[in-house]
Amino acid sequence: MVNNPTEFGMVLGAHMSIAGGIDSSVDRAADLEMNALQIFSHNVRSWSTRELTEEEIRQFKKKRENFGVDYAVVHTSYLLNLASPKDDLWEKSKKGLIEEIRRAHLLGIPAINTHIGAHTGSGLENGIDRLIAALKEVEGTDEFEGSEVKILLENTAGAGTKLGSDFAELGKVLDELNNSDRYGVCIDTCHGFAAGYDFSTEAGLKETLEEFDHAVGLDRLDLIHLNDSIGDRGSHKDRHAHIGRGRIGDEGFAAVVNNPDLRELPFILETPKEELDGKKADRVNLDRVMYLRE
Ligand code: ZN
Ligand code: MN
Ligand code: MN
Repeated sequence: MVNNPTEFGMVLGAHMSIAGGIDSSVDRAADLEMNALQIFSHNVRSWSTRELTEEEIRQFKKKRENFGVDYAVVHTSYLLNLASPKDDLWEKSKKGLIEEIRRAHLLGIPAINTHIGAHTGSGLENGIDRLIAALKEVEGTDEFEGSEVKILLENTAGAGTKLGSDFAELGKVLDELNNSDRYGVCIDTCHGFAAGYDFSTEAGLKETLEEFDHAVGLDRLDLIHLNDSIGDRGSHKDRHAHIGRGRIGDEGFAAVVNNPDLRELPFILETPKEELDGKKADRVNLDRVMYLRE
């Protein structure tokens, strides 16, 4: 018998590979008895995308239903920079985001999670303005208006010129957008910790969530990326560790997965995939999370 998140009252899964077809991701999730899943909707190292086949879409939906993978989210391509000062990259990024919405809609996936971009030297204000302008344009497209796909903005570790390491920046962006019910936030625990927020103790988490509530609003929090951090708090290093084996540690994750404001949310692991303790690392990390659940 393996532990199953549903028995723990959790919505829990991991980012899974789509190698061999989008629907293969659901087979992999089902093998590990996840009830939640995150995927890329295409090869994210390339701007060009292969059209999804009807068969692939049908299989993806059918398998999700059969295996009880209740929650799914698309992670957008890392190539997107919606805050770029360069017009060509900015245009491509808007198109890329629209394509992610279109594909999520086709797959029956209710949300896409995206990094909000980097100002690459043009300055924070400039970057935020570009991002808001990009999202407003996306809001006017048929793909956005003709679907209910939600856009989740992910916090970052704040490496280089990346936006979104400060919750206040996320709040500021969300306040400027029109279709507020179509946006939400994803907190990545590794990114937040590396950005300087404390996730390593119950008291630290409480303070962190108070800040988030003030800057963004806990009602706008839709998803948690559950990753431990190799880098110290405030290091701005985006390096994910296995659950409980980084600087956040078991105490921090116990606080996160049992917190009354967080415990009902979907938790997605983006932890390293190498073998761990002679098992699949995802298996070990999923078990760790369920062990910490009260
Ligand atoms: Zn991400
Ligand atoms: Mn993440
Ligand atoms: Mn990361």
